[in-house]
Amino acid sequence: MILPGSPHVAYRGDTLFIEDCPLAGLAAEFGTPLFVYSQTAMREAAAGWRSALTGRDHLICYAMKANSSLAVLQTFIEAGCGLDIVSGGELERALAAGADPERIVFSGVGKSRTEMRQALEAGVLCFNVESEAELDVLSAVATRLRRTARISLRVNPDVDAGTHPYISTGLKANKFGVAHQRAVAVYRHATTLPGIEVAGIDCHIGSQITEVGPYLDALDRVLDLVEAVEAEGIRLHHLDLGGGLGITYTDETPPAADALVRALLERIDERGHGHRRILFEPGRALVGNAGVLVSEVLYLKPGDAKSFCIVDAAMNDLMRPAMYEAWMGIVPCRRRDAAPSIYDVVGPICESGDWLGRDRALAVEAGDLLAVLSAGAYCMSMASNYNTRGRAAEVMVRGDSAWLIREREKPSELFRGERLLPKV
Ligand SMILES: *Cc1c(COP(=O)(O)O)cnc(C)c1O
Repeated sequence: MILPGSPHVAYRGDTLFIEDCPLAGLAAEFGTPLFVYSQTAMREAAAGWRSALTGRDHLICYAMKANSSLAVLQTFIEAGCGLDIVSGGELERALAAGADPERIVFSGVGKSRTEMRQALEAGVLCFNVESEAELDVLSAVATRLRRTARISLRVNPDVDAGTHPYISTGLKANKFGVAHQRAVAVYRHATTLPGIEVAGIDCHIGSQITEVGPYLDALDRVLDLVEAVEAEGIRLHHLDLGGGLGITYTDETPPAADALVRALLERIDERGHGHRRILFEPGRALVGNAGVLVSEVLYLKPGDAKSFCIVDAAMNDLMRPAMYEAWMGIVPCRRRDAAPSIYDVVGPICESGDWLGRDRALAVEAGDLLAVLSAGAYCMSMASNYNTRGRAAEVMVRGDSAWLIREREKPSELFRGERLLPKV
């Protein structure tokens, strides 16, 4: 049986391995729920993006909100990636992981003054500015610090929703970016502001995109703007084409990163923009398939309408099903030679929305271990402490070596900063 997602998560006989480590062995050593990542899968994903860009001035900025654990950041930094951050907290994490600020771009619609100051003091490569108001505030903050903020405008290419309805951030109705028709005027305004240096242009049109078409449409719109802006005598040094490339959770067939990059570079060259520095901001496509969430079956609860498989992982560990009704593969860590039954796989949290998978055919018994596949992106980084559940531990695997990269959170740590009221 070939599993969807990473080739580094596969059965050998009836035992599920990640690289050369059996998941059941890791669960026995580190407990459950447990996130386990393949470092080789991450390195290969980064190499896929870079291979099509060799010989070009480029920077792959890993969008760290997908998975911001320090050892994950370290893996991508060592692979030659920069980082795309969306908060001051992410900046602190990035620096703690050893990132070079000159390889960090700062995205997001709501950067605070404090965050701007922090990023200017660190010396980040570029602010991806999302509104005129933000630009004015950034100018004021930079001027007061006697620094210069290099900026890109994040333009909203308004890619046609009719043909690509799954794109969620590149439409007029979204909160993201500067409207296409305003962009030239905003660039003109930027050149008049103290403390601001125009560096490039940026767009990011959505997430879990599985076709090349929308990227090419957005690219064409962005290049139209580049030409209009440069016609005003304003130089744009880099093109940042954002992230958003999808992965295989079940039967999706997204283009490979190198195929996508090649198609975009071909269009860039055709239109005479091949000399520019190229940036990308992939998140999910770098880490999504590299991780699994291992969970123990606590109870089976057969019923007339539904049967439930109650596991020790929950929506606080894995938000994607509850939040987006996302489908994620769920497979046993040791296959049983028995007829499967149909279960809803659910967690212990007091919410009907607390499910990991619905109507899954599984041959399981209490005490078995299940792996949720493709859980490397937007899982641990979205985890919460709802129900005062400590967040799961994380392990990084390479070959037959495994390292604990995050300890399981203890309940006492969850209320450490809280205070009781004075007694009356
Ligand atoms: C979230 C985000 C990304 C990464 O998106 P993925 O779908 O994970 O590749 C890139 N750029 C910006 C501005 C983002 O907000």
